[in-house]
Amino acid sequence: MSDSLGAPDERMGELRDGLERTRQRIASACAAAGRDPADVTLVVVTKTWPADDVRRLAALGVRDVGENRDQEARAKAAETADLGLTWHFVGQLQTNKAASVAGYADLVHSVDRVRLVDALDRGAERAGRSLGCLVEVSLDPQGSPGRGGVPPAQAGDVAAAIAASEHLELRGVMGVAPLGGDAGPAFSRLAGILADLRRDYPGLDVMSAGMSEDLEQAVAAGATHLRVGSAVLGTRPPLG
Ligand SMILES: *Cc1c(COP(=O)(O)O)cnc(C)c1O
Repeated sequence: MSDSLGAPDERMGELRDGLERTRQRIASACAAAGRDPADVTLVVVTKTWPADDVRRLAALGVRDVGENRDQEARAKAAETADLGLTWHFVGQLQTNKAASVAGYADLVHSVDRVRLVDALDRGAERAGRSLGCLVEVSLDPQGSPGRGGVPPAQAGDVAAAIAASEHLELRGVMGVAPLGGDAGPAFSRLAGILADLRRDYPGLDVMSAGMSEDLEQAVAAGATHLRVGSAVLGTRPPLG
């Protein structure tokens, strides 16, 4: 790609292969489910990888990127602001980081409590932006140590708080399959929760589910957004 990244660019080849394999998996899963691949957005989760990889991905046609830590995301979004990408925030979010995230994110997938809703709304107002939000719903068996998200019974409360916020737009739901559990039934439950919420909010258009390991099950359950990291970028370097 650009001269600044040097040539030959082996990393570009790795990313092209990872992307090609992932797009192929999505196409096969869509064919099996009778779905149009155009209705499925691949969000490439670039956490721990450098901004140059974001640039390479953009050159390969990626428009949607995801991050899970504010500090890293904010820096990468600034470094690649010229690319006009859509930024997805997918990680657990502390209330005191909400205003920062509202400054660059386009869609926050991980809204899991009402207090966070208020902080995001104030941040979006201050940034002069409208911010898309998903309710992150826990798909873990009740009482087991969770991977984040609001219990299904409280999803409506978080949704209502988002919908009532002037600078936030409620778009749908997000879920992470239980560790070691079967992803298919978990994603079907998430689809059911989205269907329930649509009775009150008919415009909801996003179901964010599926990662590198379980994107096929997510497509089968109706996911509109897949959050894929390692299948595209490789095994993440261990956190320091
Ligand atoms: C890291 C991450 C992903 C991507 O995970 P992979 O297994 O690398 O595809 C998806 N969703 C969330 C919330 C993440 O933190």
